[in-house]
Amino acid sequence: MDFGDFYGNDGLKRRLQAAVVQNKMPHSILISGPAGSGKKTLATLIAAALQCTGSGEKPCRRCNACRKVFSHQHPDVIIADDASKKIVPVSLIREIRADMAIYPNEGNRKIYIFPRAHDMNDAAQNALLKIMEEPPTYGVFLLLTENADKLLPTIRSRCAEWGLSPLPPALLQQLLHRQFPERSDEEIESAQFRSGGYLGQALEMLHSAGALLPQTVAFAQAYTANNRHALLQVLVPMEKLKREQLLPILVQWHMLLEQTLLFQAGLPAAFPECRAIARRRTGAELLRGVQILQRAQVLATANVGVGHICGALSVQL
Ligand SMILES: [Zn+2]
Repeated sequence: MDFGDFYGNDGLKRRLQAAVVQNKMPHSILISGPAGSGKKTLATLIAAALQCTGSGEKPCRRCNACRKVFSHQHPDVIIADDASKKIVPVSLIREIRADMAIYPNEGNRKIYIFPRAHDMNDAAQNALLKIMEEPPTYGVFLLLTENADKLLPTIRSRCAEWGLSPLPPALLQQLLHRQFPERSDEEIESAQFRSGGYLGQALEMLHSAGALLPQTVAFAQAYTANNRHALLQVLVPMEKLKREQLLPILVQWHMLLEQTLLFQAGLPAAFPECRAIARRRTGAELLRGVQILQRAQVLATANVGVGHICGALSVQL
């Protein structure tokens, strides 16, 4: 079986392969793992294996059905979510119930993928349970969650639970080096460490590390030099920002100081800026900076004025 970009997780791969070969895929699978652990990749792989019309190994990745699944265009692979809603609404589950009564369009199965099963309240879960209790023969449920404990025991007992594991460090480093050949060994090691071994998280860190905001670069320089005047020059223009523009900057500054502390403790440097800061500022100063920025983030989410927050930072940092 070609697992494509589903890496590591050898035990899960054996289970998946056996289920495909013996044609015994569970009707309901709970796929659990942290953000960036490969839940969607695995769900797509399962959906393709079930919809594949090719002869031989499934998914063949060549037949029409496989192509549609991998490009997320198969009419019988349905993403059960409403991104505009904070939690998955009960009405969506009711729609799925009605939709499930209709035979598949093209395939032999109708597969419902719930990308955030943990964001369902009890009412939604109970509505889902009703469908799961009496699914049509073609119905398949793939529930993806970052926290399986948030699901009702009655739902969990109906599912096969497949948990995703972190990747072995050597494999993760190899994948990261391949995607980011220009990054130093240290940056790659840092992303590997901070991600807890999950590829998606490590990739996101490397993407965002390549794109420090201009205010963060300027802040790093001013903070490294302990230059109050330069810090003011960064903060004064920020007073004109909207609160939702200020918050990501504060988050990045906070992360930068936190990463510098970790660097001082002997971990690889996440950003080149960490080295410069660590040379000039003490651990105690950094810890204080982290606390100040933490408080500023709380204020920014609590409707305190941007001018007030920036003013406080110019005195405290
Ligand atoms: Zn195929």
